[in-house]
Amino acid sequence: MKNKIDIQSLIRPNVAKMIPYSSARDEFKDFDSEMIFLDANENPFETNVNRYPDPQQRKLKEILSKQKNIPVNQILLGNGSDEVLDLIFRAFCEPTKDNVITLPPTYGMYGVLANLNDVENREVLLDADFQPVLDEISRTADARTKILFICSPNNPTGNLIASDCILKLLKTFNGLVVIDEAYIDFANAESWISRLDEFPNLIVTQTLSKAYGLAGIRLGICYASAEIISVLNKIKPPYNINILTQQSAIGQFQHTERIKKNIRSIIAEKKRLLKAIVQVNFIEKIFSTEANFILIKVDDAEKRYAQLLKNGIVVRERSSQPRCENTLRITIGTKTENTELINILKTLNK
Ligand SMILES: *Cc1c(COP(=O)(O)O)cnc(C)c1O
Repeated sequence: MKNKIDIQSLIRPNVAKMIPYSSARDEFKDFDSEMIFLDANENPFETNVNRYPDPQQRKLKEILSKQKNIPVNQILLGNGSDEVLDLIFRAFCEPTKDNVITLPPTYGMYGVLANLNDVENREVLLDADFQPVLDEISRTADARTKILFICSPNNPTGNLIASDCILKLLKTFNGLVVIDEAYIDFANAESWISRLDEFPNLIVTQTLSKAYGLAGIRLGICYASAEIISVLNKIKPPYNINILTQQSAIGQFQHTERIKKNIRSIIAEKKRLLKAIVQVNFIEKIFSTEANFILIKVDDAEKRYAQLLKNGIVVRERSSQPRCENTLRITIGTKTENTELINILKTLNK
């Protein structure tokens, strides 16, 4: 049973009609050729970055395409996945008219972007196990619901969203289903990118900010049907991925073994930390996690946050999120950092 969704009918009318900006580098594409480039008002004197970057990031996308086994025309890159998410809002949601569904407790950026784009954010709380409530989602959706955001593994709770839940949503939801996989490389689960051909309404976002250790270069990745990617391509800023970012991402992709090793080390450290903090009696609950962080429920989050801060450790208090009263989110650090954290937690353990 394939979701017979018509993507064209979901696009904002002005976006569907608009003619995209055509940059100099769009019009003459053979970027590496030995031509004299007098077409983009660039400065001819060499600084390594005096030329505009490739607006389609072809080299980088070809590497990704091979690694992930996804055609280049099903990949879009953004200045962080935050830009990718914003582009999705702008391509599909008519301000003041359309709405989206988010599933708190979850990543705060979906709500911020909804606000920014003047799009109603309909929140359907996850259940006590941090899983979506399907009938509540279908009751909340209406003809103007364009997007459902699912974060898996979820931030700040750390758990994966059950794949049978996601499957049902992909089959029945009458809009786009965005699965934010920022933490997928830490999880014991397959990415949904392998199912793109089955679900025309599926968008998967990933990022180099977490498992790849490149938060500073700002590179987010969006995988979807060629149809959806072409809409996003049409509205993206022409030169949204700068040359330095493209170069360092290409460089980092040469070191896949090192990246995998670091991921394994973070996972091993997470296990060690989880084991060590069982003995800390002010920690009331440790939530199960498939990400590079843990969420814990403590007796008094504000107090414990302040104590850790006093001891030089900054964690994130997440108590303001629904179902997360008195919780702290702790990122897995290096071995030394985690040992320091464990020691401090033990001294506070009175
Ligand atoms: C960290 C994070 C991101 C990453 O965003 P970038 O803009 O790519 O750095 C995206 N989604 C979630 C849920 C995150 O926690």
